Amino acid sequence: MTTRITKTRFAPSPTGIMHVGNLRSALYEYLIAKADHGAFILRIEDTDRERYVEGAVDVIYRTLDQCGLHHDEGPDIGGPNGPYTQSERLLLYRQYADQLVSQGDAYPCFCSATHIAENDDSEQTESFGYNRHCRDISREEVTRRTDAGESYVIRQRMPLSGETSFSDDVYGKITVMNKELEDQILLKSDGYPTYNFANVVDDHLMEITHIVRGSEYLSSTPKYCLLYEAFGWEIPHFVHLPLIVGEDGRKLSKRHGSTSFDDLVNDGYLPEAIVNMIAFLGWAPGSDTREIFSLKELEEIFHIAGINKAPAVFSYNKLNWMNEQYIRIMPFETWTKLVKDTADPCFRDTPYDLIMLAQVLQPRVTKLSDIPDMIRFLTTRLPQSRELFFNKRAKLDADKAADILDKLYPLLSALGSWNEADLQELLEHACEELGIKKGQIMGSLRAGLAAQQVTPGGAIETAVILGREESLGRLAQALLYLREV
Ligand code: GLU
Repeated sequence: MTTRITKTRFAPSPTGIMHVGNLRSALYEYLIAKADHGAFILRIEDTDRERYVEGAVDVIYRTLDQCGLHHDEGPDIGGPNGPYTQSERLLLYRQYADQLVSQGDAYPCFCSATHIAENDDSEQTESFGYNRHCRDISREEVTRRTDAGESYVIRQRMPLSGETSFSDDVYGKITVMNKELEDQILLKSDGYPTYNFANVVDDHLMEITHIVRGSEYLSSTPKYCLLYEAFGWEIPHFVHLPLIVGEDGRKLSKRHGSTSFDDLVNDGYLPEAIVNMIAFLGWAPGSDTREIFSLKELEEIFHIAGINKAPAVFSYNKLNWMNEQYIRIMPFETWTKLVKDTADPCFRDTPYDLIMLAQVLQPRVTKLSDIPDMIRFLTTRLPQSRELFFNKRAKLDADKAADILDKLYPLLSALGSWNEADLQELLEHACEELGIKKGQIMGSLRAGLAAQQVTPGGAIETAVILGREESLGRLAQALLYLREV
């Protein structure tokens, strides 16, 4: 094989959904190219007109961008081997299909879909699928029928004996008996190529050196190899990726949880964590036991030899853990913006201390979507209950708490500036002056403010987030309640 610059391609069909498996292909393709200072190409495979979804190409661009997988050639930025959208390359496929027909490696087939279905069993030969009915019709008959305007497809003429082998970089050598290969359709009657044909023509013309895709394409690869051979083209590296399964060992599906990038983001996962998680779906960095890698770090260490053919398990627990790690190390300003986006609609017009809230949440949140529930005690006044004030260890109960809050209330109302340090000082003084234990004062304050047993952050943090007015309002309400019941 000649030395060429490493080129990989991501070749999604615009379906409107970026499944975890597609994103993994994109990521590995990107990393294989980058690790080798090569090029990563985006090609849109839109030849299946029935599956075409409006706006789906935008989903592809947006997802790649959010994940930081920037391409070097593609429909939007062009490149030396464009166009990069298959529907704009129809003439090329026709030209290459005609070449195969004239070489005898393909033939026109006039069987309609109904004819094929009707004859499927009766005329079934040793070949799989299509019964090769039109394989040997004469040139004269072909000319007569095409001239008469009969519609036809072009099929690949598979060898009827012998075997075809290829070597996959992950799965090793694979051999199939040629007689098991269907005379597959290369060009449909509407002039559109099938995926099976277009991918070979494009990968060659776009100078792709490593074809990276899901293992579901393994069984078709011998057919592609025969096409490369028929054209006399160099066969690229094949890198097939293992199946992605859930923790129960079954193919990952909605049954397990979200399976598309957008749904995972909606679930509250950060794109960086999703990318990190996906990097490990079938790959491991050898002796390095670290699990948190930025995309930049992955670009340096990723290697095809680290790809494993065993099914890769997508674990939502693992993703939760990774997401937590990313939240913990995120720059505080970035985190604060994310908290603001989630918390603002929950607080609506009520003022709150965003910085304190972000500080309290950063070490505690697993997913962004957990935030509204975690802060419900801040965004709404929950109903009070006497049990909330009971704490055996602090020797606190509702009556004692009422006394404490009674004494504390005027002190808090008189506090000059409502911030963490001043509240801290006030409460310490109050402990000394009023002869109350710290646990009792904090317990009373927390239950009075939050009306909830366990809260992210303590009493002072809660008071700061709520601000003076809301805090005093809640304490007054708690006192009223404790006195009344
Ligand atoms: N368009 C195909 C898909 O989305 C691409 C497969 C490949 O990478 O060759 O599954």
